[in-house]
Amino acid sequence: SYTHPPGKLNLPGKLLLMKKLICIMLLCSTAVQAQTQAPTDNFALVIHGGAGKIEKMSPEREKAHLDKMNEALQKGYAILNAGGTSLDAVEAVIRILEDSPLFNAGKGAVFTNDGKNELDASIMEGKGMNAGAVAGVRTIKNPITAARKVMEGTPHVILTGRGAEQFARQSGLEIVDTSYFRVEEQWNQLLEIQKQEKLKNSGDTTGSVKPLDTIFLDMKFGTVGATALDKHGNLAAGTSTGGMTNKRFGRVGDSPIIGAGTYAKNATCAVSCTGHGEYFIRTSAAHEVSVLMEYKGLTVNEAAKEMIFNKVGALGGEGGVIALDNKGNIAMQFNTLGMFRGYIGKDGKAKVMIYK
Ligand code: ASP
Repeated sequence: SYTHPPGKLNLPGKLLLMKKLICIMLLCSTAVQAQTQAPTDNFALVIHGGAGKIEKMSPEREKAHLDKMNEALQKGYAILNAGGTSLDAVEAVIRILEDSPLFNAGKGAVFTNDGKNELDASIMEGKGMNAGAVAGVRTIKNPITAARKVMEGTPHVILTGRGAEQFARQSGLEIVDTSYFRVEEQWNQLLEIQKQEKLKNSGDTTGSVKPLDTIFLDMKFGTVGATALDKHGNLAAGTSTGGMTNKRFGRVGDSPIIGAGTYAKNATCAVSCTGHGEYFIRTSAAHEVSVLMEYKGLTVNEAAKEMIFNKVGALGGEGGVIALDNKGNIAMQFNTLGMFRGYIGKDGKAKVMIYK
């Protein structure tokens, strides 16, 4: 083994070396300081439960949605107020929405063309910009927790299908029978879309037959997402979905794609998207919000608006986005009729909304 020849540096040489080392140490510590934000008392949480052609809801149904979003916000508030992390808040909030049959995530996920539920989810934290995701999973009860496990327990970012399920099982996550996710309303939605599709394919263009894309958009909503800022100044974002009704061939949407459906970076913002995923992938939508702030100096709301209307919307895509910056400013933008959404700040007053 190599040993340094003794006495190679004379005294001035040693002093010079020490000076250089001190300089490097000083530089490193300033860089670390710049990255670690001073703890503040500020925190905030924004959630969504999907965007789309939301209309004709019964008052009971509307109330059920608002109540569930309120419950999720209160849970997230309790975590953040107690000094918990944005990552914990995002995961806990999304788990509540996944467990509810009201939303297209976890239980209540929409059906694929061949009558299955295939779930996608992702999570990202803004300090170290670590991320995890699962796609096309069929037996993991809470895909958002699996996404977090991928982030924290593997060197990978996205795991898919059987591999993701095997990993979740090995990690001790709750595994359920595929029938757990089935909700009649979603099943009927698949039947309805397939009926319309059949009519369309048979050349019958009368009545209520519409292009496939419109059918998709008319009927699907309910993906869930959350963005949070904690008292330590750290941002996090997560998204979970069953995707789009009647999707085929192992289709993966934007929700598990970092930079498309989910993004978080402490220097700018945390973002979760919902809508016609293909458009959000093609525009790197979630990342776009962040770079519009970083490179163009837009506010989080201006950036979210620009992305939905002039990027996704310009290509013909429909959907919505929630975003939160590192000061706790929020954005909730959509170009659809409605978006299930809500927020809560350190005053503890939750606001939940559906329509414009
Ligand atoms: N963005 C989701 C997807 O394309 C669907 C949604 O948000 O409703 O899979």
